[in-house]
Amino acid sequence: MGFCKKLIVATTNSGKLREFIQLLEPLNIEVLSLKDFPEIGEIEETGATFIDNALLKARAVARITGYISLADDSGLEVDYLGGLPGVNSARFAGEPKDDSRNNLKLLSLMKGIPPIKRIGRFKCAIAIVGFDQTEYIAQGSCEGFILDEKRGDKGFGYDPLFYVPEYKKTFAELDMETKNKISHRGIAAEKALDILKRIFIDDRP
Ligand code: IMP
Repeated sequence: MGFCKKLIVATTNSGKLREFIQLLEPLNIEVLSLKDFPEIGEIEETGATFIDNALLKARAVARITGYISLADDSGLEVDYLGGLPGVNSARFAGEPKDDSRNNLKLLSLMKGIPPIKRIGRFKCAIAIVGFDQTEYIAQGSCEGFILDEKRGDKGFGYDPLFYVPEYKKTFAELDMETKNKISHRGIAAEKALDILKRIFIDDRP
């Protein structure tokens, strides 16, 4: 029938790939990444939204490889800053990307702002480009507050400044299992898994 149970994750980030491999395990498919296709190089994230960027990467990889592909994009939106850092989260404080400089910049922009105005959310978009270039999107978000000082040493990025009231902890104080359950990426990934199950199992040509 020519059906090939193979999926390309559009990333060169080993940590991210490991997370996706674990997530996709129930599908029993072969998961490859951009490391297996060095000729593709880096795909620039020039989109205005997380969805745009995820689609941009997934489309490019599906077109070049001919396989089903998955890409994600995520970041932090702060209401007081009009949605910044948004799609620019990784490079908020400029090149080269640096979590600790990004956090310092966020802290300084939010200095003196009262708690009620410190609302923000992490967002994640996962794009999947399937057979016949059909496109699917899964999204997740997680609401919280931006603290005025760092708390916790787990996680990465803006985790130490992102406080989740339900748990009375920052993302950097939560264990990974809990973070994955409530995080933007965890929520989007669950939805992506449902989409992929349909693609690989139910809708098998
Ligand atoms: P990307 O999805 O790998 O492009 O991530 C974009 C940027 O958003 C990261 O470099 C972090 O600064 C931020 N970010 C995304 N997800 C998280 C998270 O779960 N915790 C902390 N920062 C995050």
